[in-house]
Amino acid sequence: MQFRYNYRLYPSPGQRAALARAFGCARVVFNDARRARQEAHAGGLPYPTDAELSARLTARKATPERAWLAEVSSVVLQQALVDLNAAYRNFFASLAGRRKGPKVAPPRFRSRKDGRQAIRFTANARFKVLANGKLQLPKIGDVPVRWSRDLPAAPSSVTVIKDAAGRYFASFVVEPEPGTLPATEPVIGIDLGLTHFAVLSDGRKIASPRFLRRAQKKLRRAQRALSRKEKGSQNRNKARIKLARAHARVADARRDFHHQLSTTLIRDNQAVAVEDLAVNGLARTRLAKSVHDAGWSAFVHMLEYKARRYGREFRRIGRFEPTSQVCSACGAQDGRKPLHIRTWRCQRCGAWLDRDINAAVNVARAAGLAVTACGAQVRPGVIPAQRGEAGTHPKPRRDEA
Ligand SMILES: [Zn+2]
Repeated sequence: MQFRYNYRLYPSPGQRAALARAFGCARVVFNDARRARQEAHAGGLPYPTDAELSARLTARKATPERAWLAEVSSVVLQQALVDLNAAYRNFFASLAGRRKGPKVAPPRFRSRKDGRQAIRFTANARFKVLANGKLQLPKIGDVPVRWSRDLPAAPSSVTVIKDAAGRYFASFVVEPEPGTLPATEPVIGIDLGLTHFAVLSDGRKIASPRFLRRAQKKLRRAQRALSRKEKGSQNRNKARIKLARAHARVADARRDFHHQLSTTLIRDNQAVAVEDLAVNGLARTRLAKSVHDAGWSAFVHMLEYKARRYGREFRRIGRFEPTSQVCSACGAQDGRKPLHIRTWRCQRCGAWLDRDINAAVNVARAAGLAVTACGAQVRPGVIPAQRGEAGTHPKPRRDEA
């Protein structure tokens, strides 16, 4: 399992100039190779191989008009080629139908106007985290880093990114040995949100990513198309294959998303608490939440094994705790609330509570984790009025336990 660790970088003006040069060189190398492949294609020639492109780069560095490429680390340039090759491989695999997930476009040319610029140094480049906390980058210099947390092991690569806002970041890839993640303070409770995939006790709400929503939309379209086709027809057969592909894409996209989210949660928290779904499911049939359920149990499983592997604590609570009936600020139990009530004011302590976050805090508490209730509290006024509060009455719905 690979973890990414991101930190803010504060390069000096000289280092920023060197980075700009490196971004520019990587871009030129990428675009030269992109053009070479395009020309080969236009001329009906076989695609130049990765090795050929690499050899061309070396030759080009010896020419006067590209001699300035020698001013940046050769690893950075090689990695630009690696990026291009990976992009092409994905594109070809997608064309041939070997790659699941959304269709991949051929790599586009990079531009100096791109909002995000990035270069990568691998271990070969001998980048180094110095004893004084600076990041030594070949041909750039010793760049100050804000170490917001410890790196658990030696990184295998670092990507230096400049974002659209002009900020610099170092993104390290680390593959820690099992059980060697550094201990960390935070603990977190997770609630399966109604409108979000997951809601965290610190107040964060996590929606399904766009690529997953898009895949799901395509799946629904494929399902409708199949149902319209005549039984036994050739078109129905085609529609069935299309539907099977759409299913596979959704499954892959969902798994990717679960992996990313579970890895981040395990990396960042010492203990993670969730509700037990077996108990929960009974209480929630027919609810909108059930659309997430299939994915949710796979996700919880990932959290569990990653926690075990990396020495984190994983706790599961039964649904005996009425997580949406209890105020997470003062513990007052003020009864069931219809599902359309998304925020309410505690009658005893006066706290304004967000339904999902309040539940996530209560999950963490029920699991014995010490979390603060601050996340659950909202300021009245910042939440848009719900349908019930806006004067219209939604259809009666079942109360949630
Ligand atoms: Zn209260």
